[in-house]
Amino acid sequence: MSNHSSAPDTNAPVGTNFIRTVIDSDLASGKHQRTVTRFPPEPNGYLHVGHAKSICLNFGIKEDYKARGLAAECNLRFDDTNPEKESEEYAQSIQADVHWLGFEWDGQVRWASDYFERLYQYAEELIGKGLAFVCELNAEQMREYRGNFGEPGRNSPFRDRPVAENLALFRAMRAGEFADGEKTLRLRIDMASPNLNMRDPVIYRIRRAHHIRTGDQWCIYPMYDYTHCISDALEGITHSLCTLEFADHRPLYDWVLANISIGCHPQQIEFSRLELLYALTSKRKLNQLVTDGLVSGWDDPRMPTVIGMRRRGYSPAGIRLFAERCGVSKSENVIDYSLLEGAVRETLEAEAPRVMAVLDPIKVTLSNYEAGVTGSRSAPFHPQHPEFGERDVPISGHIYIEREDFAEVPPAGWQRLTLGAEVRLRYSYVIKCDEVIKDAAGTVVELKCSLDPATLGQNPVGRKVKGVIHWISAEHAQEAEVRLYERLFTEPRPDAVRGEDGQYVDFKQFINPESLRVLTAYVEPAVRDAAPETRYQFERLGYFVTDRHDHVPGGKVVFNRTVGLKDSWTKSA
Ligand code: ATP
Ligand code: MG
Repeated sequence: MSNHSSAPDTNAPVGTNFIRTVIDSDLASGKHQRTVTRFPPEPNGYLHVGHAKSICLNFGIKEDYKARGLAAECNLRFDDTNPEKESEEYAQSIQADVHWLGFEWDGQVRWASDYFERLYQYAEELIGKGLAFVCELNAEQMREYRGNFGEPGRNSPFRDRPVAENLALFRAMRAGEFADGEKTLRLRIDMASPNLNMRDPVIYRIRRAHHIRTGDQWCIYPMYDYTHCISDALEGITHSLCTLEFADHRPLYDWVLANISIGCHPQQIEFSRLELLYALTSKRKLNQLVTDGLVSGWDDPRMPTVIGMRRRGYSPAGIRLFAERCGVSKSENVIDYSLLEGAVRETLEAEAPRVMAVLDPIKVTLSNYEAGVTGSRSAPFHPQHPEFGERDVPISGHIYIEREDFAEVPPAGWQRLTLGAEVRLRYSYVIKCDEVIKDAAGTVVELKCSLDPATLGQNPVGRKVKGVIHWISAEHAQEAEVRLYERLFTEPRPDAVRGEDGQYVDFKQFINPESLRVLTAYVEPAVRDAAPETRYQFERLGYFVTDRHDHVPGGKVVFNRTVGLKDSWTKSA
């Protein structure tokens, strides 16, 4: 496989793409006086990062055109035509995700099911025009008759039923006079069309399924292709944006609208799906991870779902910046995780207050610490944002430092702590390591250090100390559960790996066993009362967020690592 990993130019001007070019020319030519887009999810799972891209595209068009003083709207419409797979929980979560990303739809939430009666009436219109018929082929026969690529299909034996009979049968279908699957309503287009979507597609099926909105009112349900174009037209959508796999469905979209009296014909425009390396962008596959218990739920911080990214600490601004940088085009949109993490990091840089935490502590005894004499300083929460305020950074006779900030045998150029050398404690004194204490196995368990009392907020006299390390006073430390996340998969394209037999290998085999590590760490007392979903930078370590569910202000402190300070991703694939 060639290297699909693309690195979009992060300095490129944003806001322009081929879809906006189409819209601009439609506005210029007077074809439209306004734009109406929509985001049309099926409520059959939680939204993922690919949907986020589509949300940013559709709602972004509305926001930007409005900002230019033009009339623009964007609807949220649920494509709820598969009752068995859909739920209110999913529908609620999708609305919450769109709001959390910072977007607002125009008017009420729309549902394709609101249009069931009108969809039904249009079907009768098509029957009346001799353009639809009731078919009695079963699924297997239908496949046989359908033909294949390069092989034309055959007409259904029911194709030439008289209009009156079709109408009577379709009404009987609605009235519940037939068993599930016994009959379908099909369009009469062309069984020889090179486009399989045009070979008399089914537009209604009989299914006695309870629907989340219409309950048991209907036992026939319209198919997606038929529903989607009509729903768009009923809402006066001007530009119907969808992913590339629907390009082959466009002739059907246009055919339906051209053959009913609806007076509105949105333009379908396709763009490429976002694919994120080391992640999956399919609700069905993400659902498998959840049901097989390989993650803790749809909002596991390793999941590329909107709620997973939220729990991980990604900000809406970070995700929106990422979507902008992914761009919108018809060419492959395979993106490395580092682009997402980079955008998140960039938005958190200015936004997140900074505190200290020690994730892998060793104890340091400060031999010349004097209670009541050895002082402490206050430190700003952000060097560039004095308005974030300050907090005291207390010290005591015992502190914790990061294990990796000490080396008994330091490499060349070491600027952290080592025996006999000095280092500065951030916002505090310069200390010197006088003694190393080890256990029987030779592991360092404690360091004995002395501090230079003249160095609180002062440079040491007569020498330079370059290194600065983070630390926490043991007496004041707040214990915290810290969850460190790594990529969920060990393969860049977990669902595209083939085994020796040429078959796809189950992507669930490529779960990274080290994708979650849980530590007990120490954090500054200043974060104890932080609300859930508060983002911090832990100095020198990365960005962390208090967990939405498990963190209890003033009680159990739980942090998720959002992203490190630097790009730690090796060039992938
Ligand atoms: P999935 O396979 O994950 O269920 P879907 O396309 O079936 O995805 P829908 O709920 O039908 O999910 O999608 C709602 C909208 O989001 C559609 O317009 C769809 O084109 C868009 N969308 C879905 N996945 C992506 C993606 N990976 N990149 C960009 N847009 C996407
Ligand atoms: Mg879908």
